[in-house]
Formats: sequence, C-alpha cells, structure tokens
Amino acid sequence: MGDHLVQVEHLRQYFPGGGFGKRKKFIQAVDDVSFSIERGETLGLVGESGCGKTTTGRTLLRLYEPTGGRFVYDGDVIFDVQKKEFAPMLPYRKKMQIVFQDPYASLDPRMTVGEIIGEAIDVHNLAPNKKERYHMIIEMLQRVGLNSEHANRYPHEFSGGQRQRVGIARALAVSPEFIVCDEPISALDVSIQAQVINMFEDLQEEMGLTYLFIAHDLSVVKHISNRIGVMYLGRMVELADSYELTAHSLHPYTKSLISAIPIADPRTARESRRIVLEGDVPSPLNPPSGCRFRTRCPYAEERCKVEIPEWREVAKGHFVACHYYEKCQ
Ligand code: SF4
Repeated sequence: MGDHLVQVEHLRQYFPGGGFGKRKKFIQAVDDVSFSIERGETLGLVGESGCGKTTTGRTLLRLYEPTGGRFVYDGDVIFDVQKKEFAPMLPYRKKMQIVFQDPYASLDPRMTVGEIIGEAIDVHNLAPNKKERYHMIIEMLQRVGLNSEHANRYPHEFSGGQRQRVGIARALAVSPEFIVCDEPISALDVSIQAQVINMFEDLQEEMGLTYLFIAHDLSVVKHISNRIGVMYLGRMVELADSYELTAHSLHPYTKSLISAIPIADPRTARESRRIVLEGDVPSPLNPPSGCRFRTRCPYAEERCKVEIPEWREVAKGHFVACHYYEKCQ
C-alpha cells in the first residue's frame, strides 16, 4: 500500500427530500463511494452535474455532515458514522482546504483581498505579529501570480481569473496539505482555464499538495490527474489511472464521456464514434433499482434491474461497477 493521505470508505450522503414518517424521502446524493488518494497525488472526479462529486468533496471537509461511511485522513479518523466517531474539525481545517467553483460568490465583496487572505491566517493564529502577517499575505499573492498592490483592492476590481487566484491564495494561506478543488475553472473563460490549471500543477510541485480535483469536463481532468474516478447518480462507476481510464475505459458511461471529448484532428474525429446517451439522468430522490445507469445503458439486461453491480478491481488499480463490462468493449 502507498502513502495514503486520504481514505474514504462507503461514503454516503443523503439529504431530506420531503415527506413525513414512513413516507419520508431522501435525495441519495452520494451512495457507497470509496477511494483513496496518495500524498502528492491528484485524483480527478468527473461526472454530469448532480452526480454527487461536489457533495463528496464537501462531505469530506464536513461542510455537510455525512450520513454514512468512514474517512481517514493521514491515519486519523475524521469520521466513522457507524461507530459515531467525529473528530473536532478545527485542527484539520488548516490541513484540508477547498477552492470553490465560483470566484464571484466565494469572496466577501466588503473585504479587501489582503483582509480575505489575512482572515485565514488569523483563524489559525499563524502570524506572530502584524509585520509577519503582512509578509505572509504578500507571499501568498505572489505565489498565485498577483502582487502587493492587489492586497488593498476589492474582489470586484479583479477579473474572473484573478478572483480565482485570490481564492487559491486564501486556501494556501494556512499551508494546507490537501485541497478539494471544486470545479475551480468551470466559471472561467476558456483562455484562462489553462493558466489556472498550470498554476495548480506548479503549486502542487512547490508545496507538495494533494488534490481532489472535481470537474464535469473529462478533457480538463485528464491533464491534471494521476487517476480519475467517474461518478454517475451518486455512485462511483469506474476508477483508474488517467491514461488507462481514457485509453481503455470499461464502463459504458465512461465511454460516453470520453466520446464527447472534442478531437482536434478532423480525420480521427470522423473515425471516432460519439456515444449519445438517451434520456435524462433520473432523480436521485428515486434512483433506478440495481444499476443506476440501467435506464440509459445500451447494454442493460434483466440482471441490471435487480442487482447492484459490485465494485471490483478488474486489472491492477482499475476498478469498475458493471455486470457486463467485458461485453461493453
Ligand atoms: Fe449497463 Fe448493466 Fe453494466 Fe449497468 S451493470 S452499466 S446497466 S450493463
């Protein structure tokens, strides 16, 4: 076993979905999701919106209280729902940070950028005095490609890309080890996305960071991730090394995501076959029985209706949940 910083076992996150008593319903946002992330690794998490990837990231940081499962961080149990063990989060807030999708909404418009970054430093008492605090703020701004002049400006004075840099500087201010990057580039112009991705990679190398990188776009995730997990309707359906997943995907849903990636070469694009899924994603309030993908899967059989496909390792480090993955090739 490698040096696992993050170990997630059977994570479950249900939200109340209306009804009372026996008729009470639950939105099954995340259901029985397991994965691990090694120190210094980037695990990408992809899937359509509403598949549970953002909820997974936020539940690990206890922004939502988990419904089930276990999360072990660097050997410490952060939560074990079955055993009713929940660690106090303050010491771990310094180690685990999040960069949000929307830089417009995640920064307080009444605070200067210096105050925003300084607040994170203050919460954890990281600066011995004001001078040191100021130096730490400037250092963080410089790390993300901004400078000391930016410290006195307000978020609205920045472009979308710069605002996301501020969000990253705020997360880095407490010297974290693990960052949940929650769709950090989806709200940015395509021209800025590559710059921000490169910055994430540089920061990872300089600071030894570990990322859970969440995105709906597989083409983005495959560039930054060592391994990729694919989620559909609250469940993980496939997980493998980035190259292995994109070159030899096994699950029909992963195949459809890969077929949607634009191909630059017109000849290769003509020869490749786009797999368009029929229908919409069912509601997580009432997910299909058996395999949750069965209502849209071209390979579905009777067994898929009644039996939840087992999560199994079919090649070294390549996991899939499909009864008929061999047939889907
Ligand atoms: Fe399709 Fe059945 Fe595999 Fe689910 S288990 S992905 S429905 S073939």
